[in-house]
Amino acid sequence: MTPTGLSMDVSTTAKRRVLISGASISGPALAYWLHRYGFAVTVVEKAGALRGGGYPIDIRGTAIEVVRRMGILPRLQNAHIDSRRYTFLNADGSLAASVPRAVAGSVEGQDLEVRRGDLAAALYAIVRDDVEFLFNDSIDTLDQSEQGVDVTFHGGQRRTFDLVVGADGMHSHTRKSLFGPEERFHRYLGYCFAIFTMPNTFGLSHELMMWNTPGKAAALYAVGDNDELHAFLNFHQPEPPSDALRNPDAQRDLVASVFAGAGWEVPAMLNAMYDADDLFFDTAGQIRMPHWSSNRVALVGDAAYAPSFLTGQGSSLALVGAYMLAHSLATNGDHTAAFAAYERDVREFVAMNQALVDNGAATLFPTTALALEQRNTMLRKLITMPSATARPAHSAIELPELAHMS
Ligand SMILES: Cc1cc2nc3c(=O)[nH]c(=O)nc-3n(C[C@H](O)[C@H](O)[C@H](O)COP(=O)(O)OP(=O)(O)OC[C@H]3O[C@@H](n4cnc5c(N)ncnc54)[C@H](O)[C@@H]3O)c2cc1C
Repeated sequence: MTPTGLSMDVSTTAKRRVLISGASISGPALAYWLHRYGFAVTVVEKAGALRGGGYPIDIRGTAIEVVRRMGILPRLQNAHIDSRRYTFLNADGSLAASVPRAVAGSVEGQDLEVRRGDLAAALYAIVRDDVEFLFNDSIDTLDQSEQGVDVTFHGGQRRTFDLVVGADGMHSHTRKSLFGPEERFHRYLGYCFAIFTMPNTFGLSHELMMWNTPGKAAALYAVGDNDELHAFLNFHQPEPPSDALRNPDAQRDLVASVFAGAGWEVPAMLNAMYDADDLFFDTAGQIRMPHWSSNRVALVGDAAYAPSFLTGQGSSLALVGAYMLAHSLATNGDHTAAFAAYERDVREFVAMNQALVDNGAATLFPTTALALEQRNTMLRKLITMPSATARPAHSAIELPELAHMS
């Protein structure tokens, strides 16, 4: 390949060893770019294997260019979910509004919506042979010095790296050990959600159905013609349910009690939730930090700047953030300067995307009867609107050219 915009500093970075914690979206994306820039990369993931599953996620705006540069755009285009219709239902299951996908939020023909597991698998496939992966392990202690970071792994190994990056998600252990408890940086947005798969006994195909009452939403998403549905139960909860966050049984019981007595297919969904082995429960929240690095350790993706599912931008920020961090490290021999450049160049992009929740992104989940009626009126009008246009926030960052291609 032809080097483009080769930086003078790249050769000095060739042997730097980087440990990345987390192998979901931001971790493997960062590993890919760092490997291309000549770093020796190790990824540690606490799960026993790459984690599949998760609700479909969006890749939009600048993040599309990142996956194009990684060579996985065609694979992701093949995996694109071509939903035809979103149907919104009232409390009794009657029709509230029906909206063609073309106006339901994404830029038709440009943005992608893929299963989260498909994106994780596509990223893993392009790094697995070049990068060391340590599954079923995690970082126990980090000890920073002038020379590097001494790491003790849960499995007992001790190793030294030049740099460590936490790509370990919203509830990042790396962030906690470096910067303190999550509560300090977590901005709770007032909702909790449960996601799981269940059998498609409703004959749904390429469509989303969403039932609402004030403060509650139940959605069934048929991403294709297959036998499986993505079920989604979202509810307003003034305070985060701290006790339930680490306990799947308590999560199930909380969701069941919130939706007790609900109409439509919600009782069947609750039964399926108890049978599901892939329940993903979390709060809708954001991570907002004054700094994303401390000496030789930095954060990327949800660990540093989770925007919440209400923005639909978590994976796009993770992909763009990983690209920018790797570029900064490749073009700055000094990690302090690199981390400063990463923050300087990415912070405004993050802030614009996090601000999407303040600009009405949560109106899909109104908490009052009046707001729900207003939402439904707005959705009914969408039928006559032209195709959606891109939101400025999705593309509010310019990607630098590749620093080096080895
Ligand atoms: C299984 C799964 C399902 C998801 N489903 C949804 C969904 O349905 N809707 C949605 O909006 N978002 C979902 N997400 C989150 C979504 O992937 C992220 O918001 C976004 O893609 C940013 O990705 P990330 O790589 O920064 O963080 P994440 O995707 O959260 O990945 C963090 C990774 O770090 C690993 N990890 C955590 N702690 C440690 C540790 N101590 N040591 C080593 N590894 C660790 C995790 O196992 C995970 O693989 C899901 C994440 C996962 C892992």
